[in-house]
Amino acid sequence: MNKFIVDTSDTYYLNEIYSDIDKLCSRYSHILSKFTIGKTVENLDIIALKLSSNNALPKPSVLFVGGIHAREDFSVMLCMKMVDYYCKYYMEEKQFDGYDVKSILDTVDMYFIPVANPDGLNIVHHGLKASKNYEALKNMNIWGEDHTYWKANANGVDLNKNFNDGNWEIRTCVPGTEVPCSDRFKGYSPNSEPETRALVDFCNKIGFTLMVTYHCSGNCTFWADSGTHELFNGIDERIMDELHYKYIYRKTKISQDPKVYGCGFENWFRARMKRPAFCIELSPFVDGGRQHPDYLFDELVWQHAKTTGLFFAEKAAEVHDEIFGNAEKYAALTESKN
Ligand SMILES: [Zn+2]
Repeated sequence: MNKFIVDTSDTYYLNEIYSDIDKLCSRYSHILSKFTIGKTVENLDIIALKLSSNNALPKPSVLFVGGIHAREDFSVMLCMKMVDYYCKYYMEEKQFDGYDVKSILDTVDMYFIPVANPDGLNIVHHGLKASKNYEALKNMNIWGEDHTYWKANANGVDLNKNFNDGNWEIRTCVPGTEVPCSDRFKGYSPNSEPETRALVDFCNKIGFTLMVTYHCSGNCTFWADSGTHELFNGIDERIMDELHYKYIYRKTKISQDPKVYGCGFENWFRARMKRPAFCIELSPFVDGGRQHPDYLFDELVWQHAKTTGLFFAEKAAEVHDEIFGNAEKYAALTESKN
């Protein structure tokens, strides 16, 4: 069988990513498909990939999201490389680092949104001049004064502070960061951004059992917040403890203050979908919004995180009935949502 498609040896540009998505869907056409789930501010496609071996039955499903924050390239590279590896191992019916990929994919659907913020990724790689929104963006004060620090979408909104989880009104911007493009600018209204709405609509449509969002940095996991933790009867903590036992991602304390933690995608998913969501911070901590060089991805991220997708897929199958009550209820729910 031929080699892998995704090359993470250095910077992975958006045009390469979208081209690789097409190559992957073509090579693995009977298990991998793509959907456009929305358009960005600059009218680029936001793409979701579905990895599923049997579409006949409603199955537990899990969503993985990368690149909500523009500068966090590692999260994009991880999603793309997981898709590539899981497809190949499925086809070859081989174990991947102890996981039986075929049996997992025969029981769980995996969905990936590798680049939730494509406009932002383009700005990080090519500078503001690459943006169709250049005239509006050039007066924004980039934190770090370097386009590689860009974190927001092409309206200067930090997407992971824009979700309508019930805390948007009280969600405070750190002083000095209440203007567009500063870190943590939450936007002028909740769910104001097309990228935010695309994720919300997609979750409502599919009804995922679990959601995992990848960020950088810190090698830790944000797994619960005080507003929703008690909804889950300990399911979230069981999964977190097992994740920490098997992987390097440290268990953080339960986020306590909605003014500080609120309006992230993971917080929205817990509050509105009423199911557990995990935010994994990849790679060793770096201060001040800096990122590790892209060529260190394999060393700092891949060797530690490569099976996290399979881990969460297994967990989705395990906790599915506990979350949904029973399979019939889930089937009815899936039908009505579609
Ligand atoms: Zn982030």
